[in-house]
Amino acid sequence: MTQSHEAGFETLCMHYGENREAMFGAAAPPIFQNSTFTYPDSASFHTRQDADATRFDYTRTGNPTTRILEQKIAKLEQGEDCRAFGSGMGAISAAILSCLKAGDHVVTIETVYGPTRRLFSDFLPRFGVETTYVRGTSIEDFEGAIKPNTRLFFVESPSSLFFELQDLPAVARLAREHEIVTMCDNSNATPVFQNPITMGIDVVIHTATKYIGGHSDVVAGLVVGSKERMRAIGRMEGELIGATCDPFAAWLMLRGLRTLPIRMERHRRSGLEVARFIASDPRVRRAFYPGLDLHPQHGLAKRQMRGQAGLFSFELRQASQEATFRVVDALKIFSIGVSWGGYESLAVPLNVVDPATGEPTWIIRLSIGLETVEDLKADLYQALNTLE
Ligand SMILES: *Cc1c(COP(=O)(O)O)cnc(C)c1O
Repeated sequence: MTQSHEAGFETLCMHYGENREAMFGAAAPPIFQNSTFTYPDSASFHTRQDADATRFDYTRTGNPTTRILEQKIAKLEQGEDCRAFGSGMGAISAAILSCLKAGDHVVTIETVYGPTRRLFSDFLPRFGVETTYVRGTSIEDFEGAIKPNTRLFFVESPSSLFFELQDLPAVARLAREHEIVTMCDNSNATPVFQNPITMGIDVVIHTATKYIGGHSDVVAGLVVGSKERMRAIGRMEGELIGATCDPFAAWLMLRGLRTLPIRMERHRRSGLEVARFIASDPRVRRAFYPGLDLHPQHGLAKRQMRGQAGLFSFELRQASQEATFRVVDALKIFSIGVSWGGYESLAVPLNVVDPATGEPTWIIRLSIGLETVEDLKADLYQALNTLE
């Protein structure tokens, strides 16, 4: 090992940002479950606003347990700094609000996460911000939507219903030419499979509720970007809107990160195996999973990602509500539920507009958990057998 050897991803997940010496050697960091931090004298209290202070003041603005998490995530995403939030939507709305003012225009993808879309369509118009929705599978979609007042491209690649990708280096390049900020919701890929910042994207956002937490026991979000941007978000949206991450939630995410690389490898392997199985069943019309060779964006997926997570959707040949409900209701190991990225397999029947045709259809989205993959395939097979 040479001195310039860079620690690998797994090693960073275990050790980066942890100062065990300062914590009595504790192998798992303590949860700093306190609202306020005290000062030894008035002079240090009065200089407490120093932005690079190593001490903490109040948990809404920073907490030592949360700080370990933020440093680790910034490193894993190859960004300069990170801030944790109380939910993925807390992170998304803080990041989005941080770069917009009245009169600005945003471009995002049609299939962006539902509440993110509602932030653009139902909330931001009240403050004079307009949004254009594009499919986003071609760079011309973005190019054609740019206006003189466009300030933000908000993308989500792969998206979480139809798993469409955006060409991140191309989106970042186009945005730079027009001085547009780029943000990518990277929750599906996780830093294990994709690092948008290395492709020129300015801001990476995660809901840690999904794969990063990984155990369906925490709701939290993360924003990664430059030091300057993260400091501004911390001072404004973080502190003033106050979607603060709870220290216990930060601790649960630190615990989730210890196993993130091995969990994602299993999600990837099982996801691919189940997706291939589903795609080859005659009762299935289409499977939406960029990990499949036949997926129209498989080549792009291989260029900008190191793998695919265990989340995908499919459409039955008989894509009616009745048939879709019948298959989902027949599942025994898969539970019916929103969210994804946990240890357990989940299925949801969804009535959605197909971005390729603009027509509504029924799909089933599966989150492939960590159970024995043969059990998952057998469960899906018996459920499909309820169709005549
Ligand atoms: C769930 C989800 C979010 C929101 O995260 P919360 O932690 O539930 O607020 C954001 N983006 C995507 C893609 C999601 O699936």
